[in-house]
Amino acid sequence: MKGILPAWGRILQGYKPNLSIEITRECPLRCPGCYAYGDEHLGGDVTLRQMADLKGDALIAGVIEAVRIHRPIHLSIIGGEPLVRFRELDRLLPQLSAMGLYVQVVTSAVRPLPAAWAAIPRLQLVVSIDGLAPEHDVRRAPATYDRVLKHIAGHHVTVHCTVTRQIIQRDGYLEEFLAYWSANPDASQVWFSLYTPQVGEQSEERLEPEDRQQVVRSLLDLRGRYPKLRMPEGLINVYLAPPSTPDACTFAKTTLCLSSDLVRRITPCQFGGNPSCDDCGCIASAGLDAIARHRLPGGLHVGAIFDASFGIGNAVATVSGRRRKAKGHVQAPARVPAVEAPTADVSAPSQRS
Ligand code: SF4
Ligand code: SF4
Repeated sequence: MKGILPAWGRILQGYKPNLSIEITRECPLRCPGCYAYGDEHLGGDVTLRQMADLKGDALIAGVIEAVRIHRPIHLSIIGGEPLVRFRELDRLLPQLSAMGLYVQVVTSAVRPLPAAWAAIPRLQLVVSIDGLAPEHDVRRAPATYDRVLKHIAGHHVTVHCTVTRQIIQRDGYLEEFLAYWSANPDASQVWFSLYTPQVGEQSEERLEPEDRQQVVRSLLDLRGRYPKLRMPEGLINVYLAPPSTPDACTFAKTTLCLSSDLVRRITPCQFGGNPSCDDCGCIASAGLDAIARHRLPGGLHVGAIFDASFGIGNAVATVSGRRRKAKGHVQAPARVPAVEAPTADVSAPSQRS
């Protein structure tokens, strides 16, 4: 529940407490099921690869400016592949940390994570590992296990696995994965998201309802036996009943997502396009919804307080003129939301980078 009060404060002031930035349009990987490079990710008129993409001083200044304007508590840096811009990040991450921000870099670890990043306060490195080596290496070459293991050495990364239909066909797979990473000293914790499809998507990755129930049962069992699986029970249970629409999704309401020009907004959430909320398996969404569903003494849900606060924050943003200015550039929230990273500090990763 940590982070709720500062997040609430941001909401009341008309800001979104979470900012997610696609820091580059580039990625050397071609992962099946990657939503970032889907045709509809940015609404259909442009794809991520066609977007403007900043480099060098312009990128550093642009991100700092976006943070100053939007005033998040938590920033997720995703891609494309953020390590494509590792030189810029090398300069940017210490500055963001000095601003008091909690920053998460979501990466495939396709190149070495700079050693100095391990000492940056409030920085979390999340590495996407989609299954054990035989399956991961097929999906994520050239970010294969061999390379990832070398590239994360000396860090304490969060291992983030997106569960697809393919990897749960074998009984015990999730436990094997968890046992493997529990034994790796460079992994401090493990998270599982579930593959989130677009509405109408037919793909090999998409889970059937019975798959979802099986995964939830497994995670509830494993969390008691593997301390590195840092997923609270309430979060895991949200996977059985995700928010039904973006308007009901605490993550969508509390997170501003910008693409690689630092201007274009990704809606309704970081998936973009028309995501199937009923099939959502995003750990960030589940984590924030678990908080929103929490009952306070007296029976009120935390989410009800936030919902009331969105209205106040909206009025504050309108009266202060931020809403009007927002039309032209990277400006304040269209609808005003809440909450920081939840119980497990989950904030943005889903099926990438
Ligand atoms: S995070 Fe999940 S529930 Fe929320 S808007 Fe996106 S797809 Fe829907
Ligand atoms: S999932 Fe991540 S690493 Fe893979 S193609 Fe998409 S952005 Fe690149």
